[in-house]
Amino acid sequence: MEPKNQYEKEYSFEFFPPRSAEAEELLVNTSDMLAALNPLFFSVTFGADGTSRDKTRETVMNLKVRTGIESAPHISCIGSTRENIRGIIEDYRIQGIRRIVCLRGDMPSGMMDVGEFRYANELVEFIRQETGSYFHIEVAAYPEMHPQAPNIEADFQNFKRKIDAGANGAITQYFYNADAYFRFRDACDKSGIDVPITPGIMPIGNFFQISRFSEACGAEIPRWMRKRFEYFGDDRESVHSLSVELISGLCQRLLDNDVPGLHFYTMNRSHLVRRIWDNLDLK
Ligand SMILES: Cc1cc2nc3c(=O)[nH]c(=O)nc-3n(C[C@H](O)[C@H](O)[C@H](O)COP(=O)(O)OP(=O)(O)OC[C@H]3O[C@@H](n4cnc5c(N)ncnc54)[C@H](O)[C@@H]3O)c2cc1C
Repeated sequence: MEPKNQYEKEYSFEFFPPRSAEAEELLVNTSDMLAALNPLFFSVTFGADGTSRDKTRETVMNLKVRTGIESAPHISCIGSTRENIRGIIEDYRIQGIRRIVCLRGDMPSGMMDVGEFRYANELVEFIRQETGSYFHIEVAAYPEMHPQAPNIEADFQNFKRKIDAGANGAITQYFYNADAYFRFRDACDKSGIDVPITPGIMPIGNFFQISRFSEACGAEIPRWMRKRFEYFGDDRESVHSLSVELISGLCQRLLDNDVPGLHFYTMNRSHLVRRIWDNLDLK
């Protein structure tokens, strides 16, 4: 396959709201370091438990003011009413936020009421109804299938609903198998989806943590890769070097095959992202 070159590459970095003074300081250092790479935007996650809604807003505003980089809040709709969401988007509009990441989110355990939105496509549709084309809306994509979907085709059709509802682009769940991304992108091409699908990249800082998380979110860690990480056990330095080597290889393969850019799940740390970045041919 001849590499295509459709996109000017754009880069973005994702953070979560810090929960302590120490974590806040870490995020300041991380975001300052990553701002120097001149990304298109930062994004900040939104907890489904409701407690971090204000923290998402506060983190977004701090990032925007301190670094001057466009900062995008994630908005999840599960458990929310139309009135809640209306208030949130109106507030962001007043604050001059133009880019948002729209998600369904996950129900916190013990919570029974899904609220007035069942799926992310309904959230996108509502925001478009309320605010027209004001916001640039990103949604989530799952090249290896969302874990609750009945099958890959149904999941793909559900993804398409979000684009049809007016999303401008998608960021994928992280993956370690580039072919899963290419298959997903081919499916998009075939069904006329022409928005950028940006790969989400998760550097591996703690293999056992990522391994547990991957089982829950349906991201596959190939056996050969698992074996290589397991071999290093708790040897952090070797795990990090292997992570930098493998993730740099994954990113370079994606970049050589016309991805629109890369979105890094930073876990509020810059050291691995920086080492990966330095390995890439980003001209
Ligand atoms: C880039 C990215 C950022 C994220 N950020 C956050 C965050 O900040 N906060 C957070 O809590 N979580 C976040 N998540 C996780 C996400 O909230 C979960 O994966 C959640 O389970 C699904 O959210 P969604 O927006 O993809 O849901 P949806 O697109 O609504 O899909 C959820 C499930 O429902 C199915 N489905 C969708 N629409 C329909 C329909 N109309 N009818 C029937 N079935 C349907 C889908 O196939 C899928 O199985 C993020 C994920 C990604 C990839």
